[in-house]
Amino acid sequence: MKKALVSGGAGFIGSHLCQALLEKKEVFCVDNLISGKKENIEHLLEKDNFVFLQEDVNSFSFEEKVDEVFHLASLASPVDYYSNPVETMLVGSVGTKNLLDLAVKNKAKFLFTSTSEIYGDPLEHPQKESYWGNVNPIGERSCYDESKRFSEALIKAYEKKFSFKGKIVRIFNTYGPKMKADDGRVVPNFIIQALKNKPLTVYGSGKQTRSFCFISDMVFGLQKTMDSSFFGPINLGSPQEYTILEFAEKVKELTGKNISFDFKPALKDDPKQRKPDISLAKKQLSWKPRVFLEEGLNLTIDYFKKTQKL
Ligand code: UDP
Repeated sequence: MKKALVSGGAGFIGSHLCQALLEKKEVFCVDNLISGKKENIEHLLEKDNFVFLQEDVNSFSFEEKVDEVFHLASLASPVDYYSNPVETMLVGSVGTKNLLDLAVKNKAKFLFTSTSEIYGDPLEHPQKESYWGNVNPIGERSCYDESKRFSEALIKAYEKKFSFKGKIVRIFNTYGPKMKADDGRVVPNFIIQALKNKPLTVYGSGKQTRSFCFISDMVFGLQKTMDSSFFGPINLGSPQEYTILEFAEKVKELTGKNISFDFKPALKDDPKQRKPDISLAKKQLSWKPRVFLEEGLNLTIDYFKKTQKL
């Protein structure tokens, strides 16, 4: 059985990825639980081929031989990285270096989950992998954006210095069960507000756009990238673009609640438009999202109804 290490394995995407990998691999899940949650992996702990290590990837050392390293660890939601900016920068620099060294030592495959945030507030739309981005290096989001950009650059530096090639996936907005109820992102915020019959908090005009990829599609895309001979960078996400107001209407309709919108000031440096060009993923991986927004949102609404007792 191949051995895979997943950093950030107790987080939202990480825990779903661990579960999927367990079907064929032995999985070592590393997480310091700064934003990940033990509950996300509780049901996996009894499996013989699953090991949980509560460790910080920045200082972590590991003697076991592994075949694959998935580096997901980060504080990924704006609320989490606003309140932990230094930790965010370190996991995307020291943490990435530590895991790259581990992969080099083991001659393991390495996949880094970068982000659509590396395009910043994009001036090119939709965003292709060839776009360099429009990022404020000292702004509200810079701790996240620049740590991810640094990691991408470090992977390229390892390629030059050690002839070691790492894979780079740029993840666009992803949603589904196991998102944290209080992580401040638009999907849990709107669903929970709606279920509590409260107005939906729309930041700014609500004309900013996002597209939403369901978690099972994202996990499949990450596995496909690791199993392919392609290194990226590659965008994974949904090309179906919605304004935040359209998205709010969708949540209102699917929860069946007669609620209003509460307009709040726009967040600083909030990207005005975002949508991936996924031609490369279609060509190189034969991948595209399969789950329609309504279907994915209904599953996510059910999850929050159950876990939040709403
Ligand atoms: N947003 C909003 N209300 C909320 C939470 C978020 O209007 O309660 C907006 C936010 O300003 C952004 C978009 O929804 O334009 C997506 O925000 P999220 O934090 O989910 O992810 P981002 O793509 O910004 O990382």
